[in-house]
Amino acid sequence: MALYKYSIPSKLIDENGIRVDKRKYNELRPLSCKIGVLPKCDGSAYVEMGGNKVLAGVFGPRKVAPRHIMNPNEAVVRTMYRMATFSVDERKSPAPSRREVELSMVIRTALEPAVFVSYYPKTLIDIFIQVLAADGGTRCASINAASLALADAGIALKDLVTAVAVGKVGGKIVLDLCDLEDKEGDADLPMAMMPQNNEVTLLQFDGNMSKAEFMEAINLGMFGIKQIYKVQQDAIRAKFKDISEGVAESEIEEERELENEREKERARVGKREGEGESDD
Ligand code: UDP
Repeated sequence: MALYKYSIPSKLIDENGIRVDKRKYNELRPLSCKIGVLPKCDGSAYVEMGGNKVLAGVFGPRKVAPRHIMNPNEAVVRTMYRMATFSVDERKSPAPSRREVELSMVIRTALEPAVFVSYYPKTLIDIFIQVLAADGGTRCASINAASLALADAGIALKDLVTAVAVGKVGGKIVLDLCDLEDKEGDADLPMAMMPQNNEVTLLQFDGNMSKAEFMEAINLGMFGIKQIYKVQQDAIRAKFKDISEGVAESEIEEERELENEREKERARVGKREGEGESDD
């Protein structure tokens, strides 16, 4: 990252199709997801997507406050996206910016279709997102983290929501834009989907593309989303594997204690019977 901080390379993609961070056009940045990382929330997740580091915490379904936003028929989903002051090259003001308010709304609209809101009337589901480090596509990394945090909170979901930004750099359609590609490229197309049914929940577009390029970008985005979805699912499985292994261990321990008790009881009974026999 420091490489791009002070100089912009003359080409964002070279004649062999290699990008500024050495990726091919259809390659995702390194991705890792973990759930259940914050003990005080009902659900949480931590996602690293390239240089993005994003934490999401969910409270809910809980009592609605302020009461006037309550919906008698379904849960209200509220989202707050914030960037830490130290998350970007230039110190970001700690005061909420218009961009953060707008992205909070964008992320909420991407997530809401996945939530069975009618299961939770008169409640509030609060999603808090903190970008600790930003590297292009923070809204996508935030959607990936928030949907995992919702799942971790046990909220009924139709599917996870998975997001990635596709774009055009040096005339080529590329997957998962990094910060430099996002800022200096020709087009940026963040998209989110519920991958099971290929249901699109977010599609934004900034820049210029032909119709053919647009279709290529959508297909490339879906290709990336399938891979990200697998990493998200693995994060959920990893948590429940840990829990089930923990349960199995405690069951073995309980069984061992029970067996000790039975052994002691058998010894006591044997001793009593022995004493009875000697009385006769
Ligand atoms: N960015 C920044 N300062 C800011 C806001 C954004 O340096 O105050 C950077 C950050 O790396 C971000 C990128 O610009 O990822 C692109 O921001 P955009 O608004 O396009 O949203 P994003 O691509 O992160 O979803």
